[in-house]
Amino acid sequence: MLYEPEGLDPARWPDSYWRASHSGVTCPPLAGRAKADVAIIGAGYAGLNAALELVEQHGARVIVVDAAQPGWGASGRNGGFCCKGGARIEGPAIGRRLGAGVAEEWAAFQRAAIERVRDNLDRYAIDAQATEPGELRLASTPREWRAMQREGGAVMDPRALREAGFDTAVYHGGILGGPEEGFGLHPYAYVTGLAGAALDAGVTIHGDSPVTRLDPAPGGWVLRTAGGELHAPRVLIATNGYSDERLPRWLSRRILPAISNIMVTRPLTGDEIQAQGWTRQVMAYDERLMLHYFRLLPDNRFLFGARGGLSFRPASVAAFARRSRAEFDMIFPAFRNAETEYEWNGLVCLTASLAPYIGPVPGAAGLWLALGWHGNGVAAASEGGRVAARAVMGAPDAPPALTRRPPPRFALPRKPALAAGMALAGLVDGRLRPRP
Ligand SMILES: Cc1cc2nc3c(=O)[nH]c(=O)nc-3n(C[C@H](O)[C@H](O)[C@H](O)COP(=O)(O)OP(=O)(O)OC[C@H]3O[C@@H](n4cnc5c(N)ncnc54)[C@H](O)[C@@H]3O)c2cc1C
Repeated sequence: MLYEPEGLDPARWPDSYWRASHSGVTCPPLAGRAKADVAIIGAGYAGLNAALELVEQHGARVIVVDAAQPGWGASGRNGGFCCKGGARIEGPAIGRRLGAGVAEEWAAFQRAAIERVRDNLDRYAIDAQATEPGELRLASTPREWRAMQREGGAVMDPRALREAGFDTAVYHGGILGGPEEGFGLHPYAYVTGLAGAALDAGVTIHGDSPVTRLDPAPGGWVLRTAGGELHAPRVLIATNGYSDERLPRWLSRRILPAISNIMVTRPLTGDEIQAQGWTRQVMAYDERLMLHYFRLLPDNRFLFGARGGLSFRPASVAAFARRSRAEFDMIFPAFRNAETEYEWNGLVCLTASLAPYIGPVPGAAGLWLALGWHGNGVAAASEGGRVAARAVMGAPDAPPALTRRPPPRFALPRKPALAAGMALAGLVDGRLRPRP
């Protein structure tokens, strides 16, 4: 394990605003011997969407097991940006390396992924507080702003941003994307709604059941937990940043879990919101490599997220939180008296192929993986779970070609490489400064 147990213990829920503002579902542990057509490890967006697809479209008997409860992983603690993403490689680079068809297919997948979440909310009547659609990209340096202007499109200078309700003391300009870019949601309400829909559809979910062994058995696989064993011819592993890399051993060093951090303020007053001039709930993020992502929540709290940090040790987490708060105060000076009421973190999952992997474990018939959403899994893991289910049921080409390439092992020791990468990104980004 790359990280300290404090951040990985399924008995500890994060101190998240989401968990404080929505009740979850509690599922009993696996006890004794059980059998399924498909066993799924992980009750996040990927595992639960796969379960729904398997039961609704294939009539399969599905059992999902989670080390904690549905939504304990990143799916219950993220920023709630239902947006494009999922890979660290952009369309033009995909086109150059793998062909224009692969790039187009990946772009179509990302659009479908946002529609998938919209459809899930509608179909299962999940009230996840979906916000005004669209997404604002912001330039934190003059260099980023010049690059944005070269892109063309609906660029907004600081004055246009102010007039549109997006005033800050830092950003040099931005581009506001339309509804096709997605929308904000309450991530824990969404994952809890998916778990409820899966239970209603006949899926069995077991919580508090860490799978400790995964062994071949006659006719398939056996998953072992402290209290039971689950037999299935097919297994889908959807454990993303929280994966145990021994399950299966093939996964070892093929993923790189990385920390993302969020703080949420107390509800802002109307005067504070007007004084700052940030009045919209549209999702926003900046162009930095170590990016900030933020949005005004429906109850006027402000959510501010930042990627970074290398440890779950309390002192490191506190130091990162202090730095993040200082940046928040610099960007939004009128909110500086709004106390932080919640702060937490969690793990996202990177791969050396820079893309998710949705495919079989080589040499292990019936064993499948769906993970590596690169910090953008609200939409991608939802659709990814669906296409993974189709692959498991006999359509191995259902996932996009970009995601069917097994990720290689990371060549370098991952923690030092991540630390070096972050230091380099910090140099490229430069210090965040108020706009002159
Ligand atoms: C702080 C933070 C902010 C983020 N913000 C955004 C955002 O705004 N927009 C966006 O698109 N994405 C965001 N992400 C990423 C997104 O949340 C994830 O990509 C997505 O939730 C992954 O879903 P998943 O189902 O693959 O995995 P997870 O939701 O992480 O679920 C994995 C599950 O596997 C279980 N598990 C692991 N090992 C075992 C085992 N051995 N036995 C049984 N169960 C096991 C865990 O308990 C966990 O519940 C963020 C992530 C973090 C951490």
